[in-house]
Formats: sequence, C-alpha cells, structure tokens
Amino acid sequence: CGGASMAGAAAASGAPPDVDSDDCLREYRHLFSPDILAGQVAFVTGGGSGIGFRIAEIFMRHGCRTVIASRNLQRVSEASKKLVAATGQQCLPLSLDVRQPQTIEAAVDEALKEFKRIDILINGAAGNFLCPASALSFNAFKTVIDIDTIGTFNTSKVLFEKYFRDHGGIIVNITATLSYRGQALQVHAGSAKAAIDAMTRHLAVEWGPNNIRVNSLAPGPIVGTEGYRRLGGKFAKEGGQFDMIPLQRAGNKTEIAHSTLYLASPLSSYVTGTTLVVDGGSWLTSANNFPALLGIASSSAK
Ligand code: NAP
Repeated sequence: CGGASMAGAAAASGAPPDVDSDDCLREYRHLFSPDILAGQVAFVTGGGSGIGFRIAEIFMRHGCRTVIASRNLQRVSEASKKLVAATGQQCLPLSLDVRQPQTIEAAVDEALKEFKRIDILINGAAGNFLCPASALSFNAFKTVIDIDTIGTFNTSKVLFEKYFRDHGGIIVNITATLSYRGQALQVHAGSAKAAIDAMTRHLAVEWGPNNIRVNSLAPGPIVGTEGYRRLGGKFAKEGGQFDMIPLQRAGNKTEIAHSTLYLASPLSSYVTGTTLVVDGGSWLTSANNFPALLGIASSSAK
C-alpha cells in the first residue's frame, strides 16, 4: 500500500505519520494539549471509516469520549473496538441513516442516555463518485444531496433540539472545495457541499446566541480514504498531479483530524460561520480537465 514510503515522505514534509487503512495510528505525538477535550463528548457521523474514524481517534487521544454513527452497525462496532483499544477512552457505536430523522433522534437519545452530554457534532457522513452530469441519473444527484446536505441539516437540527439549544455546542461540517472552480464530474457532490457551507453560515448566525459555533472544514485530496480511492487518487500520483499542488503532496487523515480538533476546541472560541480549507493549496492550482477526468472515471470504475 506504499505505507512506508508515504510515512517517509510525510515525515520529511512535517506531516504527522498516518496509516492508509481504517486502523489507529501506530505512533502518536501530541501537538495540542492532551487534555484539550477532557470530559467532552463528540458525536461523529461517518465515524466508522476514513476521515471520520481518524477524527474520532484524535479526539479520543485528547480526552474526548465519542459516539460514532453510520448505517452499518458492524462497521462502527468494529471501529469502536479499535478506537477504545488504542486510546483507552469510551466510544459508543450506533447505527443511523442521516436521511431519516427518526433514526438520528433514536441515536442521539441513546448517546445522551449513555454520556448525559454531547459537546461536539462532526457531520462527516457523505457519499461521492465521479460522474459527468450528462450520465448522472436524477436519483443519483438527489441521493448525494439527501445524504450530504439534508443529512447535515437533519443531524444538526436534532442535536440542536435535544441538547445544543440549552447547553451550547460546536458543529463542524466536513465539506469540500469541489464547487470553488466547478470541478468536472462532481456537480452532485460540489453542489451538496456548497449548500452545506451556506448552511454553516446561516446556522452560525441563528445559533450563535445559543453559544453554538458552526464551521466547515474542506479537505483536499486525503490519502487512505474511500473518497481518495473513488475519485482517482492513485492516478493523481501517477499522473504527476501532486507537482501542481503548492505543498506537492496529498494530505493525510491525521492532518484533517488536527484541523478539526482546532475547530472543535477552545483554541477557536471566537471562530464561527467560516470554512477552513485544509488542502495544501490544492484547489488554487489543481487540474480541472474534463476529458482527462473522464479517463480516470472510466479506469477507476473497473
Ligand atoms: P468514507 O470513509 O466513505 O466516509 C463516509 C462515511 O459516511 C462512511 O463511514 C459511511 O458509513 C457514512 N455514511 C454514508 N452514507 C450515510 C448515511 N446515509 N447515513 C449515515 N452515515 C452514512 O469517506 P471519506 O473519504 O473518509 O470522507 C469523509 C468526509 O470527508 C466526507 O464528508 C467527504 O465528502 C469528505 N471529503 C473527503 C475527501 C477525501 O479525499 N477523502 C476530500 C474532500 C472531502 P456507512 O456506509 O456505514 O453508512
């Protein structure tokens, strides 16, 4: 999987080490204070895999207990065992579908029963694939909007009603840079994530008086994730596309988790309604070549 060479390159660039699979880090050096989230509870949708899994791990390494929730209970249960073993913190795996508010309500009730509080919501659940608009079915477009945009609203609203309205809270929405330049083959995800960035600002304004901070975090290409595999990440390296990224490489999951930790911690106590782009400068310079991306889409579908 290129893990060793990746770790070497990452170390040279100042990036923290990571592992490509959905496993916990083999080594970890604290940069933030290890108790920065002590006593807190984070609810992470999509926390059983990829970026969400690493966010849960890094939060737990900083004293936080977590709820990781997605459709596949087996996936989050196995992830939870790994997280608890690596960090010694509590992690409650729950199943929900962010498209179905009643499943979110049941999961939040369960989480509050277990932990009595929820301080942080990470909206990480999403679906994506490469597809030209002309080949995208009406239903495929709608499904991505349903999971990403409406799912983020549903989960935020349930948390607001059940806990944040009276106790305050922090919401971090994981979005993307796709819409900034109209990335080819991404009209569905780009539209969905742009709407979430708008939602971030609306909710930051409406819920600020309730002591709720709402921010987005937009990752660039992040190795060791389903998103990276599906969106042709390995072709990016082979095709020399990293040369175009100002920081000359893809990011890793720990780098996203660290930036999310900043947004979820008191270090960002006066930050709300903003989008933090964590992409090595990628969106400013990366290719947006429709015919070339069509080639990647057909190769990665095989
Ligand atoms: P991932 O591992 O596929 O994470 C997506 C998660 O969402 C999965 O754990 C999945 O679990 C969950 N999910 C999907 N549909 C759901 C639903 N209806 N209800 C509840 N949970 C649902 O992908 P990732 O690449 O790490 O991406 C994580 C986040 O980062 C996403 O928001 C993505 O858009 C964003 N992002 C990633 C990259 C990248 O390079 N990877 C770049 C920019 C943005 P179940 O299947 O069990 O439901």
